[in-house]
Amino acid sequence: MGKVYLTGAGPGDIDLLTVKALRVVQQADVIIYDRLANPDILQEAKDGCEFIYVGKEDSHHTLPQEEINEVIYQSALKYEKVVRLKGGDPLVFGRGGEEGIYLRERGIEFEFIPGITSAIAVPEYAGIPVTHRGVTVSFRVVTGHESKNKEHSQIPWENYKTDDTIVFLMGLHRLKKITQKLIEIGKPKDHPIAVISRGTTPDEKTVVGTLDDIYEKAKELPTPALIVVGEVVKLRDQLSWFEK
Ligand code: SAH
Repeated sequence: MGKVYLTGAGPGDIDLLTVKALRVVQQADVIIYDRLANPDILQEAKDGCEFIYVGKEDSHHTLPQEEINEVIYQSALKYEKVVRLKGGDPLVFGRGGEEGIYLRERGIEFEFIPGITSAIAVPEYAGIPVTHRGVTVSFRVVTGHESKNKEHSQIPWENYKTDDTIVFLMGLHRLKKITQKLIEIGKPKDHPIAVISRGTTPDEKTVVGTLDDIYEKAKELPTPALIVVGEVVKLRDQLSWFEK
């Protein structure tokens, strides 16, 4: 039986792959990868390495998670070194925990290899620090995605009244709803917000606005994209570097 490496691929820029991730990619017998993992990483694999794409779109899954779990498990029965490569960090909305549990229940050894999460690195490339002395002392990373058939919101909006920076992943398709909710719980209409599309890649694009106008400005941006809410957004005027 093989060993599975539940590995973070970083947010997009291939140079943000960790040394440890690169090492297992180079040794892998099979690499099972996502849509959000930069496919250029596969060029680092050895000759004869098998590639299995189990791509996930933002809002719908090409392969249901149970099937992905099974693909990983079957690969571990067949190969010695299995790399499960996921965008960002495997445990930040990455379902790496579910994959680990599935493997543990079947007696397969695994390791997590942390990756640089888009939640921090993408704002950073856009010149937006998630914390900044004198501006905010904490940040939250939340999902903007909610299942359509749920009657009530699962997102605890009341918790977001604080001054925390809020980073929404998987939220572009609900941008309008998110800004409406934030205004409903009392944030001012001119509260700063940014949407960053394809962060850390040559296609990176950032749109800055207010809760009131961001939807019209940013709705056409391509995915993947994330949303940053908070006073830290204003620091981009002084800290923008990558898009220059
Ligand atoms: N495990 C990943 C997050 C998976 S959820 C991580 O740690 O980064 C997928 C969401 O991440 C996308 O919907 C988007 O909101 C965000 N995302 C991932 N890569 C991104 C990128 N390069 N630019 C902007 N957002 C990105």
